[in-house]
Amino acid sequence: MKSFLFSAISLFFCSIAYCQMAGQFKNDVFLKKLYADTSYTNLKKKVVKEFKHAKPGHWGEFVKGVDEKISTKQKLIAFTFDACGKEKGKGYDYELIQLLRKENVPATLFVTGRWIDKHFKALVALSQDSLFEIENHGLNHKPCSACGESEYGIKGTANPSEAFDEIEANARKIEAIIGKKPRFYRSATAFIDESCARMATKLGITVVSYEVLSGDAVANTPDTIIAQNVIKHAKPGAIVIMHFNHPKWNTCEALRIIIPALREQGYKFIRLKDFPLKSMKD
Ligand SMILES: [Zn+2]
Repeated sequence: MKSFLFSAISLFFCSIAYCQMAGQFKNDVFLKKLYADTSYTNLKKKVVKEFKHAKPGHWGEFVKGVDEKISTKQKLIAFTFDACGKEKGKGYDYELIQLLRKENVPATLFVTGRWIDKHFKALVALSQDSLFEIENHGLNHKPCSACGESEYGIKGTANPSEAFDEIEANARKIEAIIGKKPRFYRSATAFIDESCARMATKLGITVVSYEVLSGDAVANTPDTIIAQNVIKHAKPGAIVIMHFNHPKWNTCEALRIIIPALREQGYKFIRLKDFPLKSMKD
């Protein structure tokens, strides 16, 4: 009884500590802190000046400056999962994460600042699991545009200044929480223009899109269809895009089909950091 009481009390204080810590990293609070930090504002000033008059160039998921696959001929596949964090996408598919753990399948997790604001504790736990790498999906889940393009009805960043915050502020936020700066960035919806891709490269960040679209983001897509999309298009070096912020989607069920099927074909699973990446355009 005593030890139960002790556990309950420590859990209670632990939760308060987490809450207080999480509060410091909320998007608005953290951005305010960055705007008072000259290492951030000086870099922002310099980069925005450079890109202010740059032509946005092509807009899309596979534009110049974006990598879409792993540079290998071996039967290796990278599963990537986005956590978008907008109003309708702020969940956490814990069952999916537990399945990856049970199957010992490594994965790359792209998270937004908004999603972190809802799942601070989960992010910390995921970052401590060597099976996963935590990467950058943008501060506010805005497609990355130098001139306010939109995609799938989601308004993109309005200018280079917003694009800078979308990429760099979330990279710093993740680093401040987990102690490791993300090296990859996937813009919201994976749409980006060429000048924003160049900006990310300038910041030492690799922009990543995908080669295989699982289709899990189309509401009510059955597990068998998602599985078919992935299994049919699997090839050495493919990067697969899925989500882990919608527990009601069928991504987890699809993975129960995908993982054994690909293993049967001789595929092994890796994270993006495990191999060099390349563009399909090369
Ligand atoms: Zn997203």
